[in-house]
Amino acid sequence: MTEPAPSDAAAAKPASPAAPPTSAAPSAPAVAPPVVVFDRVTKTFDNGFTAIKDVSFVVDDMPGKMEFVSILGPSGCGKSTVLRLIAGLTPHHPASSGIVLIGGRNVVGPGADRGMVFQDYSSFDNRTVEDNISFGLECRGVSADERRTRAREWIGKVGLNVDRDAAKYPHQLSGGMRQRVAIARSLILGPRIILMDEPFGALDPATRLRMQDMLVSLSREAQATVFFVTHSIEEAVYLGDRVYVFSAHPGTILKEMRVPGPTFPAKEMQRKPEFMEIVYEIRDLVESLESSNRAGD
Ligand code: ADP
Repeated sequence: MTEPAPSDAAAAKPASPAAPPTSAAPSAPAVAPPVVVFDRVTKTFDNGFTAIKDVSFVVDDMPGKMEFVSILGPSGCGKSTVLRLIAGLTPHHPASSGIVLIGGRNVVGPGADRGMVFQDYSSFDNRTVEDNISFGLECRGVSADERRTRAREWIGKVGLNVDRDAAKYPHQLSGGMRQRVAIARSLILGPRIILMDEPFGALDPATRLRMQDMLVSLSREAQATVFFVTHSIEEAVYLGDRVYVFSAHPGTILKEMRVPGPTFPAKEMQRKPEFMEIVYEIRDLVESLESSNRAGD
């Protein structure tokens, strides 16, 4: 759930993050408010540990397009904290200081405008594929007939087979298939923002590439902004329209890069020299960061 932002200076001027290397404010007034604004957001937990410090970025509304924001960084640098602040999930939400705006409004808790897909398979064990996918529609009071039609449509969209898979239970599915169900379950509700926390992290490399292709094909029709947390530089660069590279202790955005969108299937594109060049650039950055951490800088 989000609520209208108070009419204070910060809310009236959401596109003004404090420090580089975050994105600049749009030069002309935006038609719609930015999808997400983080303005000098810090999160310190009850035990005194600061997970992220002064994180600022703006993701503008891109009507008619599913924009991918990849979040890359070492374990523990606060990637999930950023996602969970957007989702409005405790104990990460609320921020200790700074402003988090979703569509120009303060976050007050979880809401149907934001869907989440986790790394661990989050389906209900006692529900079939079809009933898992239609769960959110059921909560919204959608009729059984419509639920069935829409769930079956989504089974196909995420690359599963209605006749073969609709009546299966999660334990009868591979890891990749379970993540397809999780993605369908989230996208069927048409969220404005999709938060994906290492959704392919547990999958083997070949399945992972196929899942990336599936996400790209879904992106052609969905109109949403995706925040995609990953450890894989290749995955971040392939899927991302932009990549935020985080540093740790405490987490902060080290670099924002605009990267070309996926124009070829994952396996093909990820072998191209121009793709590898971007990957190497980010890898060098991450390695220099790690070695400076080891040196105690
Ligand atoms: P990432 O997703 O990049 O691995 P997280 O956002 O999960 O990192 O966590 C960032 C840091 O905050 C980690 O060091 C983690 O141990 C710490 N952390 C996460 N949740 C809590 C909590 N509830 N209380 C205290 N520290 C936490």
